Amino acid sequence: SDMNKEQVLKAVRDNNVKFIRLWFTDILGMLKSFAISPAELELAMEEGMGFDGSSIQGFARIDESDMVAMPDPNTFAILPWRPADKGAVARMFTDVLNPDLTPYVGDPRYVLKRQLKKAADKGYTMYVGPELEFFYFKNSEGTEVLDRGGYFDLTPLDVASDLRRDTIFALESMGIKVEYSHHEVAPSQHEIDLRYQESLKMADAAMTYRLTVKEIAMKHGYYASFMPKPIFGENGSGMHTHQSLFKDGRNVFFDGSDKYNLSAAGKSYIAGLLKHAPEFCSIIAQWINSYKRLVPGYEAPVYVAWARRNRSALVRVPMYKPGKEMATRCELRCPDPACNPYLSFAVQLAAGLKGIEENYVLPEPVEEDIFEMSKKELAEHGITSLPSTLGEAIAITEKSAFVKEVLGDHVFEKFIENKKAEWDAFRLHVTDFELERYLPIL
Ligand code: GLN
Ligand code: MG
Ligand code: MG
Ligand code: MG
Repeated sequence: SDMNKEQVLKAVRDNNVKFIRLWFTDILGMLKSFAISPAELELAMEEGMGFDGSSIQGFARIDESDMVAMPDPNTFAILPWRPADKGAVARMFTDVLNPDLTPYVGDPRYVLKRQLKKAADKGYTMYVGPELEFFYFKNSEGTEVLDRGGYFDLTPLDVASDLRRDTIFALESMGIKVEYSHHEVAPSQHEIDLRYQESLKMADAAMTYRLTVKEIAMKHGYYASFMPKPIFGENGSGMHTHQSLFKDGRNVFFDGSDKYNLSAAGKSYIAGLLKHAPEFCSIIAQWINSYKRLVPGYEAPVYVAWARRNRSALVRVPMYKPGKEMATRCELRCPDPACNPYLSFAVQLAAGLKGIEENYVLPEPVEEDIFEMSKKELAEHGITSLPSTLGEAIAITEKSAFVKEVLGDHVFEKFIENKKAEWDAFRLHVTDFELERYLPIL
């Protein structure tokens, strides 16, 4: 949308907007919102709106809980699923500030902005194209599917084309461009791909996307879930993240004379993603359930390697339009759609930039099926694995000076603390698996 304050105020008047929801995100990537009336908006855009941050996950301590939400006029959009007849509802993303209007270190949007500034200082703009996958279920109480369809299926196996269609119209009405949509591999699993966009805009768009998918599902009487692995034995949901850097209108990753069409910077960027992926894995796959997805056999990555075609690799360099400069990019396949997109894009960009800065060397691609390799072959190729549980992932992140630097001390500490508590709660839980397996024999 890219509007200034005057244009926002005019849009509010012209569209009979009665509520403006101010949005921000907690450290776990949960969207938070409070609504203000149009009369407050002009001042809100100048001075921000105060709110109590003490109950927001990962925000302030009780003794320093006064926060300010400063609306970003570029993010104004009318929420298409709200009724328009009795007055419309709009949303604006906000930056969370301290009472003195300096950026609040606990705001994930600020974590990403800080990293984007680092990139901008070198002349780089980061573009991101995420592929968010999700399931439709009959309700939120269980995993009863709507269809038995699979990859790219049509009627009668795909009963959700109307849901996807309404979702896409809703996204487009908010200025979010959609490129592809289709039934995914698992029953009742779907994907709607957004057109690549500058990183901060895309992180905002990903937040909007998740809510839109859920709102439209609810309108149809169903429940949409971004849980990474809701059904045992079926594919989980990923958020493959395509990314590239541009400088002066040119794609920094592209070199037509290279056999992979990758520049030295592009190769070092990918090497950065590979090297730091185990450290930032807890950020892009942040739930206990995320690690039920990152297992062999379901098109999700387990091993740290890159490839051009091989979908078992962690990073893939797509070959759809070989040699096309604009389309040259890499795809990181471990993130899932239940991550915090701001933190996710921030750690990925930082890893890539570090690769470029320190001239990391990219190993050869691995085009064989890595899942078929023996331990010995893995070792010969120098292929390591991602952490296999949240507990393991957190233990690696906790030791990472790199992740700490990207997130900043505050978010880093809050995140580790929160995730350790989650892991401990899980460790104490007695699961169905144990009862079914042990009770009859022990
Ligand atoms: N669902 C798979 C994942 O978890 C990806 C499948 C695909 O897009 N081909 O990453
Ligand atoms: Mg896809
Ligand atoms: Mg997919
Ligand atoms: Mg993909």
